[in-house]
Amino acid sequence: MSGQGGAGGFLGLNGVGNNDQQADYRDPETSPKGGDTSTTPLSDEQRQAHVELVAKWGQQLETATAEEIMEWAEEHLEGPIAVTMSMQDTVLAELAEGRLHSGELVFLDTGYHFKETIETRDNVEQRYQLPLKTVEPVLSREEQDETYGPRLYASNPTACCRMRKVEPLARMLNPFEAWISGVRRVDAPTRATTPVLEVDRTGRLKINPIVTWTDEEVEQYITDHDLIINPLTKQGYPSIGCATCTLPVAEGEDPRSGRWAGTNKVECGLHT
Ligand code: SF4
Repeated sequence: MSGQGGAGGFLGLNGVGNNDQQADYRDPETSPKGGDTSTTPLSDEQRQAHVELVAKWGQQLETATAEEIMEWAEEHLEGPIAVTMSMQDTVLAELAEGRLHSGELVFLDTGYHFKETIETRDNVEQRYQLPLKTVEPVLSREEQDETYGPRLYASNPTACCRMRKVEPLARMLNPFEAWISGVRRVDAPTRATTPVLEVDRTGRLKINPIVTWTDEEVEQYITDHDLIINPLTKQGYPSIGCATCTLPVAEGEDPRSGRWAGTNKVECGLHT
């Protein structure tokens, strides 16, 4: 599955024609057959062990560096750890490399990404030793159009994100004990109180090592470590999602205001 196209690939969220609405398509609330829609919960014992880790270490890790948080994960967790990569930048890969020996980089390819995002994924695969897994939805873009009608991202972006992001991530997480995310508190009001360490609804540990970082700290880390970046971040796209749902934003505007612009949607559902 490949990217959607370069910068300027936004197709608009209001372009659903009458013909699309009249066709006999499947209800977008019903996901396609062929893939689990949720993650298998860990055992009660594993969940309890994670709850105890959060109780014991959560507060302390709030003031730890991102490197220390990664080293803590390596020391305290036995199972494999997924490192989720948006391919906006490569901060998490750099933090994980050499620290998380059972880490695996994972990338959700929705099929609607900018080509620059796919190129960034390919560059990451070349640079880092950690394995990189690309996770895809059950349906290709074409199959989704046939099943649910064209431009589902416009008519029902919540359902589109659920089938192309949330459910693939849920399936991907099955073999992992924990996952690392790049969520930051400054991203959005919905993330303002996200802790460093939490237990997700399946009992897995969710670790947010850069949750306290400002935009300036991210920039500094990228410069200091000469990281691969998605070139779109320098072309007016400070927050990059699917090409169909991301607009460039003017300097000084809320960086995430280009995501699902014109709708009241602010989260894809991966972190809520
Ligand atoms: S961001 Fe847009 S295209 Fe991507 S999964 Fe969500 S609704 Fe679909």
